[in-house]
Amino acid sequence: MRSAVFFSVAITLITSSVVASPNSAPKMVTARVVANAAALRFGKSVGSPTDGHLVGGERLEDTSYVKVMAHDAPGDVRWGLSPLVSMIDRAARTVTKKFPGSVLEVGHLSRSGGGDVGDHASHESGRDADLAFYVKNSEGKQVFSDSMVKFAGDGTASTWPGARFDDARNWTLISSIVQDNANVTHIFVSSPLRARLLAYAAKVGAPESVRARAAELMMQPHGSLPHDDHFHVRIGCPAGQRACIENPAPRKKMHITHVPTPKHRERTEPPAPPTDHVKTDAPSRAEPQPAKPMNDDSPQNAGDSSSSPDADDVSNSSAVLAAPNDPVEGD
Ligand SMILES: [Zn+2]
Repeated sequence: MRSAVFFSVAITLITSSVVASPNSAPKMVTARVVANAAALRFGKSVGSPTDGHLVGGERLEDTSYVKVMAHDAPGDVRWGLSPLVSMIDRAARTVTKKFPGSVLEVGHLSRSGGGDVGDHASHESGRDADLAFYVKNSEGKQVFSDSMVKFAGDGTASTWPGARFDDARNWTLISSIVQDNANVTHIFVSSPLRARLLAYAAKVGAPESVRARAAELMMQPHGSLPHDDHFHVRIGCPAGQRACIENPAPRKKMHITHVPTPKHRERTEPPAPPTDHVKTDAPSRAEPQPAKPMNDDSPQNAGDSSSSPDADDVSNSSAVLAAPNDPVEGD
């Protein structure tokens, strides 16, 4: 790990300054080196998740309870701001403490140094991570796949007979993430699975405040991947990092002839029962809509991009679809 080198340098300097010199100058140098090493390890996010880079940061290491999937391992796309990496570690540890032997499978974070990551629109500035779902078999045992698998709102996967979306482990993960101090701003996940998790949380009596926070943070992005095969977690800009841009800029302006009224505006607290209405078409890379996490998330809306103005209704008019600070860019 890059930062480990700096720490060992710092330790060497501390040792030599204590032994060799009674005056204070080396200690000041040492303090600066230690501070720089800590800052480098923390990482600096520059630009936005869709157009940015990462200075320093931390590498997510495999442990007994966290593993980067083989499919996503090439390229070393496992770097992030320290709060993101440590949050993933804490959340996975929480799950494995409750369900011994559990392993959180992780997809891409960012590259060392950040920047473009393959097919992803975001993941550029050390603030994004893809987390696979916990999946179990009929006996409740965790099972694994080589790649991320799409799950419907009823908890089944059409491509993986016998596999079940693991409500208990996945809720434990989400519960830990939303209570973490890493400043999570988004958890992209399909609306049916969001509803399923909130229904489960209510059923097991999870604290109201945690359920409300989870309801606020979990969202299905519009005009992007439905996120029915993984959670995409994003943290906010750390305090004081002025080069960090909180939300992706719209990639292109889209004009619409009129703004359609959303078909559904139902509250989801308490959440409606999960449905299996999930759209699995190829993802649209069109401009996403602004997120309305508390209102625009009924299961009936799940993946229903036909109600999304960016899927149709796009032509030449004056209404700009995406707000300037559109936070939704989840893939
Ligand atoms: Zn992602």
